[in-house]
Amino acid sequence: MKKESLEKLNFEKQARLFKALMHPARLAILDVLRYGEHCVCHLEAALGYRQAYISQQLMLLRDAGIIEDRRNGWNIFYRVINPGIYTVIDAAHQITGTYCGSEPSRQYEKPLSNCPCPKCNADKGISLNLNKEHACPPVEGSLKTISIKMEN
Ligand SMILES: [Zn+2]
Repeated sequence: MKKESLEKLNFEKQARLFKALMHPARLAILDVLRYGEHCVCHLEAALGYRQAYISQQLMLLRDAGIIEDRRNGWNIFYRVINPGIYTVIDAAHQITGTYCGSEPSRQYEKPLSNCPCPKCNADKGISLNLNKEHACPPVEGSLKTISIKMEN
């Protein structure tokens, strides 16, 4: 009985992970984050979704333990916690016959002309700390999560 419930718990953990992946927008976000951390502004410029929508998807990915956020001055960057997630995603690409390779995601590492984020504007000499007007707004609930983490 005890063994059964333990197994069920493990499967539920896996199901939670797959559930978090089960959305085209979230897979697109993870594709952008494949080679490095990015802020909401960059995701918005790269994918063309509205910022509120991206924030919502980021929260779901964060709650599922797939990504984490890091504050740097006025900006919050999102990154994948365990890159092993791309093994799962690449297996899905292989099974569905969609792209499977590193080059498409690498395009997001180059500065995007329509992006106000500090990474894309680094060569324009804008300092990270003085970049107030280009600061990406934090995702709702970010600070709350940080304080919860600290309590634990
Ligand atoms: Zn950018």
